[in-house]
Amino acid sequence: MLEIQVTAHQSLALGVRPVGTAPVPTHLNIPGSVLRGALAAVWIAQYGLPTKVPSDKRREFIALFESDVSYGPLFATGSQVVPLSVLRCKYRTCAAVVDEAFNDAEGAPTCACGPLVPGRGEVEFTKSAARGLVTQSTHLQIDDARGVAEENLLFTRRALTHRDANDAERTFHGRITPGSELPDSAARWLAGARRLRLGARRGTSGAVTYTPRPAVVAPPATGLRIALRLTAPAILTDPSGLLLDLADRQAVRSALDDELAPQLGGARVTAVERVWARRERVGGWHAASRLPKPVELAVSAGSVLLLTFDRPPAPDRLLALTGRGIGLRRNEGFGALETATTAWEQPAEPASTATDQDQAPDPAEAYAWQLFDTGHGPWFVDNLRPYVEELAAHPGARHIGLLERPRLRRLTPNDRETLTTMLLNAPVDVLDRTLGMLNALVRGLAEKESLRP
Ligand SMILES: [Zn+2]
Repeated sequence: MLEIQVTAHQSLALGVRPVGTAPVPTHLNIPGSVLRGALAAVWIAQYGLPTKVPSDKRREFIALFESDVSYGPLFATGSQVVPLSVLRCKYRTCAAVVDEAFNDAEGAPTCACGPLVPGRGEVEFTKSAARGLVTQSTHLQIDDARGVAEENLLFTRRALTHRDANDAERTFHGRITPGSELPDSAARWLAGARRLRLGARRGTSGAVTYTPRPAVVAPPATGLRIALRLTAPAILTDPSGLLLDLADRQAVRSALDDELAPQLGGARVTAVERVWARRERVGGWHAASRLPKPVELAVSAGSVLLLTFDRPPAPDRLLALTGRGIGLRRNEGFGALETATTAWEQPAEPASTATDQDQAPDPAEAYAWQLFDTGHGPWFVDNLRPYVEELAAHPGARHIGLLERPRLRRLTPNDRETLTTMLLNAPVDVLDRTLGMLNALVRGLAEKESLRP
């Protein structure tokens, strides 16, 4: 199991293709399917299309992206999916929380403000983490094939900002679980840190660093009553392949028992005590062929299945299950889950990121890539130097005159905003290192370049 950290260097537009003139929303987390697609794109850039590489390489691609590697969802620090079994204060004026999955109290739960209400299974951020979360910008839609603007297609896209409330780069966390059949070469490839591009508008947004580490995760608690809490949509079917009817407890018990007993060392599901669920339509794209996959009705993230077992499953088996997930198309990020034996609790506000300062990536590296990605890297090497020297001599002399130069008149609004922030705020030593790194990038860091999608 790999613990994945993704650090965002640019805003992330994790939405769907624009439809009409409605603003395009963004996911508030990185779905496993998006991470998988970005990794597949890097692999293809590195080795070529899987249909055109030698057969051992083709097998590696299939093992990585079309077999039993589970790509779990990534959540930003300070965010999570709140289970649908959780009731909270309707007005959020008090901190009342009741998890119906583990609540033995009689009567309808209330707080002083009124009845408690369930959430909607959405990704939620703590108050401090939610500040400045989403930006909105208007773009001209460009025809991918012809490279020209399509008629009448000015659209508005929402994106996750890449800086959190403390102005640190937003980090996302999750897991990738390599299946048992992953060849060593593929496992090593997956375990290598690299730059990725996530989501839409890849020229101006979506740059992230992918940092995998061997996971050190404590096994979850076990017991006779275990709640499965979905953290991604799941596609659950009965043995004949039909969509599972969640209202039919017997059918759900039987289907889950069939799937879980081999995973949980023979522990049997004896009852489905209760289900809290929503449904949603999910599609997807086939990574290699770039064709749409069939749309299916999935059980939404946040849904909860409360199960009773004939004996407590071994904790390490439960841990393996949380890495594997349940249902179909798990390698596409579906079916990710957590298990619980006790009531959900509202998480505390995350500690200030200042505490892991020494692990923080150098902002100069992100700036260097941003400058490089504008396509004006060499120009910046020559023209940013005088500004940095001027600042070193006169620390108060901040300005953005550089961005007014005719050369940069077609800079995207996103780039312009980021570079304005950099010019007005980055300490001189950071700017100095940025120049050094940009210079190295421009001179061709052959290895790094080959990893870029
Ligand atoms: Zn209340």
